[in-house]
Amino acid sequence: MADGKHGIGWKGDNIIDQAGYVRVYRPGHQRADKMGRVPLHITVAEEKYGRCPTREEAVHHIDFDKTNNEPDNLVILSSKEHIKLHWSAYEILKMLFNRGLFEYDEENNKYTPTRFIDCYLKIGEKSDITGNS
Ligand SMILES: [Zn+2]
Repeated sequence: MADGKHGIGWKGDNIIDQAGYVRVYRPGHQRADKMGRVPLHITVAEEKYGRCPTREEAVHHIDFDKTNNEPDNLVILSSKEHIKLHWSAYEILKMLFNRGLFEYDEENNKYTPTRFIDCYLKIGEKSDITGNS
C-alpha cells in the first residue's frame, strides 16, 4: 500500500518477503524484524487469539495461500502440530497423485493437473456453493 505522503518505496509500505508472506510496518512489535516489519499473518492471528504466537508456534494458512491473511484462514499451532498438519495434506496429495489427478512434468520440474482434474476444476469454477460473496 503506497502512502501518498511518503511515496512508493517508503519503509512503511507493506511488502511481500522472499518467502511470499506479506509484511507490515509495526516498529516495536515483539516479532518485528530489523526493518520494523512483522508478517501480517502474525498480527492477524494475534488479534484473533488475543495473544502473540510464540516463536515455537506457527501460524498456518488453512487454504495454503500465504497472501490470504483473513482471520478465518489462520490457525496458531505448535511446530509439531503444524508439521503433522502439513503431512496430512501431503498424504492426500500422494493419494491424488496415485489416482492420476496430477502428474510430474519433468521438463519444467513441476506438477501439473491431468485432464481429469482440469475438468473437475472447471466444474468447481461454475458451481461455487461456498456461499461466500
Ligand atoms: Zn502451514
